[in-house]
This record gives sequence, structure tokens and C-alpha cells, in this order.
Amino acid sequence: PYNGPTKEEVLETRKQFLNPALFHYYEKPVMIVEGKQQYLYDETGRRYLDAFGGIVTVSVGHSHPKLVKAVNDQNELIQHTTTIYLNDQVAYFGKELAAKLPPHLDCIYFVNSGSEANDLAILMARLFTGNYDVVALRNCYHGMSLGTMGLTAHATWKYPVAHGFGIHHALNPDPYRGRFGNDGEAYAADVKDLLETGTSGRVAAFFAESIQGVGGAVVLADDYLKHTYKHIRDHGGVCIADEVQAGFGRTGTHYWGFETQGVLPDIVTMAKGIGNGLPLAAVATTKEIAATLQRRIHFNTYGGNPVSAAAGRAVLEIIDEEGMQENCKVLGDHLLGRFADLEAKHDIIGHCRGKGLMLGMELVKDRDTKEPAVAETKKVFEDMKDMGVLIGKGGLYGNVFRIKPPMCWTKEDADFMCDALDVALSRL
Ligand code: PMP
Repeated sequence: PYNGPTKEEVLETRKQFLNPALFHYYEKPVMIVEGKQQYLYDETGRRYLDAFGGIVTVSVGHSHPKLVKAVNDQNELIQHTTTIYLNDQVAYFGKELAAKLPPHLDCIYFVNSGSEANDLAILMARLFTGNYDVVALRNCYHGMSLGTMGLTAHATWKYPVAHGFGIHHALNPDPYRGRFGNDGEAYAADVKDLLETGTSGRVAAFFAESIQGVGGAVVLADDYLKHTYKHIRDHGGVCIADEVQAGFGRTGTHYWGFETQGVLPDIVTMAKGIGNGLPLAAVATTKEIAATLQRRIHFNTYGGNPVSAAAGRAVLEIIDEEGMQENCKVLGDHLLGRFADLEAKHDIIGHCRGKGLMLGMELVKDRDTKEPAVAETKKVFEDMKDMGVLIGKGGLYGNVFRIKPPMCWTKEDADFMCDALDVALSRL
């Protein structure tokens, strides 16, 4: 049992010494002292079902024994070297990760966070193409570094300082709220117009999450990427897929989110689930694009350190050994079925969406006006916690539940969450 400082002491200490911008998710903060598989435990030993995985970061389950062993073994050997020396873990992790990607994306650069990965992707795209304009989507989230803050498109995350220049935000191909519904080709035509009117006509890159995460599990309209990639390439740009949330089997039908749209990106960025919680991220691209970094020296102190690399290698193995991609498919389909039943019963549910274990449920006050049901979402969210289920919340107005649990969830977990949602929604 836990016998450290009390929750109140921790809260007070955090308030005193950590930046006040840090927010806690619940009115009365939850303190987590232990995690096993799909469960989290607070300081009193109370168990919660984890439906959010620390923002989609815990992919294969909390403290998975195989991963713990891989990390511990590496810890005992050596914790850190940097890439100025050779180390087997980093090199072989690169090889194993490349084997999971389309064959042309066989050159990996390891970094520590999604923001760093996306910064590096922009840098490579600009060097490779000789252009600087970048197109991203409204409602996207790509990071908090000054470079990626320019990409990120929610006012809530953008500080009024100079950040990421040369970025143009296209209409979001959101089938529920977007202007053209589920017509991906129409949104792509808007990108073409943007390229021809808002830029010099030559661009460096197009950036998109395969399913928007922070924006509320928004699945891009059908065929959107296929048409948009063509327009971008016609205008000299490369196409970048941010797989920070949607990658590693989570969508169920495919290992990578971009595959669900049938496209082949030129650069893929990854973070979060890649290391199951250890600081680890990566940029995968072609040898030709990667070679542009050789024009100067590029260095990242912790990028691909042996401990994180050992974790990453274990994650790849666990996903395959335990059939987690297939589990995401089966559970995702089951959950969407249960969501449909809830939608039929509760008028406040405006839209349910997603793929595999990357799902969203949007609450609205009125199904016609689609006015976000912000206070109601918050209430259900708190109620779910009191019933022992920690779900996620997102979208610009915070009116979308984000269901992105560790990929070791079971049907019983899925049903328990849906039953709890039914109770919480009925109490509104
Ligand atoms: N891309 C996406 C799609 C993300 O969801 C996030 C984090 N929420 C990032 C990039 C940035 O990752 P990090 O917080 O590790 O910098």
C-alpha cells in the first residue's frame, strides 16, 4: 500500500512549486500512485478503469511485465550514451520500427516528444523542398513548441507570441460539423484554392493527424487525404502524417492511421504510444528527405537513448504477440454499436465516431443547432470518475468524450464503461 505524502500535501506542494498553468482534469484532482494493465490506483487503493491512457500514451497497458523487464534490464546495463557512441538498442529499434512502415519510409530519427518530432518534420520538409509554406488543418493539435504551436489550431493552445511562421490552416474535413459534410474531395478542393491564392503556389508540406485527437476524435472525411496529397504534391510539397495518437494499431483495421485513408505519406511522426509512457518519439521518412539534415550537424541529447529504445522495442513486440491491433478492431466495433444504442436513448448525444480504440462521443444541446453541451459534458465526466472510469475530454469546446484506452482492454471493460455512461447520461 501507498504510504507517501497525502493527496492534500501533494496538491499543496504542486501549487507551491510547479507552474500554475498545469491543470488537473477533475474538480477534485485524482492522484494516481500505481497502474497495472488497464487499471489505475489512487493513494487509497481505489481502482479506476483507464479509458484514456494518460492521453493515449499508454498503448500496451500500465507496467506491462515484458516492457518493465526490457527497461529494467537496459537500466542495469547502461542508461544513457547519446548517439555519439554506437549502441545496439537504438540501431535495432530503428530497424524494427522501419519494418512496420511502408518500405520507402526506412530512415528514422528518434527524439523525445511529439512536438520535437513535428518540428523536425517541418525542418526536413522545408530543406527538402526549398519552400516554407505549410498547410495544416483547423482544429488540429501538433504540439506546444514554438514551431508546432504555429501548426496547432485551437485558440486555447496558442499564446499571443511569435510562433511557427508560414502556416496556413485549411477547412477542417469534419464530417459532423464541416461545411462539406463527408465530401473529402470538396475540402481538398479548398486546399487547392488555398495553395493558389494564399501561398506562392509552392509549398513545403501538408500536415495532418490521421484522426484528430485533441480536437475530439474527428475522423477526416472520406478520401480527403488522397485528394489533398495530390494537390500538395502538385504544388511541390511533401505530405506528413502525424501518427502520435492514431498509430501502432489503435485504429484496429490498420497499423497506421494514414492507411485507413489509403495514402502513403513522405514523412511520419510518432510519439506517445510508441514508448508506452517513456519519453520517446520518432520521425520516419525516405533516405532522400532525411539526407537534407546532413547540411549541418543535427543532434538530440536524449533522442533514442537505450532505455527508451528498449521500451519501444518491447512495445512493438507486445502489440503483435498479444494481437492488440485485432483487439482494437473487435472492441472498437463493439463500442460503436453500444454508442449507437446510447445515442438512440439520449438526445444529448450528437455524434459518435472514431475507429478502433480511438473514439469520440460529442454532446450537444440540440441535434439541429449542434450547440455544444459544455456543462453537461463536464458533469458526466465527473460522474464517470466517481463511478470509477477515467475517460478523456476534448474538442475546442470540451464537449467531446475521448475514449482511447490502453489496447489491452477487454469487452467487459468496454461494457462497464458504456453502462456507466448510460447511468451518468440518465442523471442529467
Ligand atoms: N501530435 C499530436 C497528434 C498530439 O496529440 C500531441 C500531444 N497531445 C502532440 C503532437 C505533441 O506531443 P508532445 O506533447 O509529446 O510534444
